[in-house]
Amino acid sequence: MQDPVLVINCGSSSIKYALVPSAPQAPRLAGLVERLGAVDARLTGTDRRGQRVSRALNGAGYHEAMSAIQEQLEGLSPVAVGHRIVHGGERFSDATLLDDTVLRGLETISELAPLHNPANLEGVAATRRLFPVLPQVAVFDTAFHQTLPPRAYRYALPEALYRNQGIRRYGFHGSSHAYVSRRVDRLSDRPHGGWLIAHLGNGCSTCAIWQGRSVDTSMGLTPLEGLVMGTRSGDVDPGLHAHLSRRLGWSLERIDTLLNKESGLLGLSGLSNDMRRLEQAAAEHHAGATLAIEVFCYRLAKSLAALTCALPRLDGIVFTGGIGENAAAIRARVIDQLPHFGLRLSATANARTVAGQEGRVDAGGSHPQIWVIPTDEEAHIAAETRRLLETPCP
Ligand code: ADP
Repeated sequence: MQDPVLVINCGSSSIKYALVPSAPQAPRLAGLVERLGAVDARLTGTDRRGQRVSRALNGAGYHEAMSAIQEQLEGLSPVAVGHRIVHGGERFSDATLLDDTVLRGLETISELAPLHNPANLEGVAATRRLFPVLPQVAVFDTAFHQTLPPRAYRYALPEALYRNQGIRRYGFHGSSHAYVSRRVDRLSDRPHGGWLIAHLGNGCSTCAIWQGRSVDTSMGLTPLEGLVMGTRSGDVDPGLHAHLSRRLGWSLERIDTLLNKESGLLGLSGLSNDMRRLEQAAAEHHAGATLAIEVFCYRLAKSLAALTCALPRLDGIVFTGGIGENAAAIRARVIDQLPHFGLRLSATANARTVAGQEGRVDAGGSHPQIWVIPTDEEAHIAAETRRLLETPCP
């Protein structure tokens, strides 16, 4: 494996890792540590030969988990570590070498993303201890959206909140939207045009892209704004907080938990946050699952329609993420609710998409195109890390 970059994505209870070689198609050693800090903490992944590995890590925290990941690297030495950092605020828009000054700056931004950045930074600290001489690079989820114009990123709130507190829309899933946008520019015969991307995983967001740059997106100050997600509500009336507080005496922490962990597909269905489970239950006439899928698709179609306002022209829509890549019926339902844009899905091509493969699923002609493109955030983070290291110092 040539000059691999170790990509690390630390969440509050998990660490995803991938050793990404410089050759794009070369096999990767990758995996996931789940349930950090719990007795049943476990590392699962694949080794260099594609064989599955699974290891109990009993109660491992970030540091023990990172050591276990290092042992899984089979003696391969990364040339650098690329970290996914969720929030870069307004200060960080490009990949940035992580030194003590940058880390101090990032700690101040953590207030903007209390559910994400502290975990990302714990991962950086553990990785720096294990690989003290390797360059460590931060790649921000917000970075790709730094090209949003003020009309898209400002909330209709008093100016001082923006100026003094950084209250604005930032957008997330930037590495995914950037990767998919570059791929569709390569694959389609309409490069650098107007594209909408629907990233549909556990977190979901849409993005409008004009000439390769993000011009609007559905997530905002935090990754809670916008679409219905696995356990996140997406948009609700901003008056809801005051209402729940007055009516039920709920604290802000309680409301935060409700909106981030108990809502979305899970809250609507009362069953699961997993789309596969919901599709199965809906087929068996489970009312909650049926409603959850209906609201998910309608809200997604509404978001895509709204984002066309950001584009001078619509060249096409791309679906990505676990749901976007695999759930043909969800794609069909969403496109069905957008009859005004001349989108025409090919039922055969849509049904025939193969997991993990890129493909076009519209009926052809001069209409806006419809693509399914598997996302690869790790490839983007590794590429940005390499780009930074290869840029000569000023
Ligand atoms: P994450 O945001 O955690 O990376 P993923 O991109 O893996 O999440 O997406 C997870 C979602 O994708 C889950 O809701 C899961 O049910 C859904 N999904 C995965 N495969 C399928 C499938 N074959 N059909 C429908 N949904 C699927």
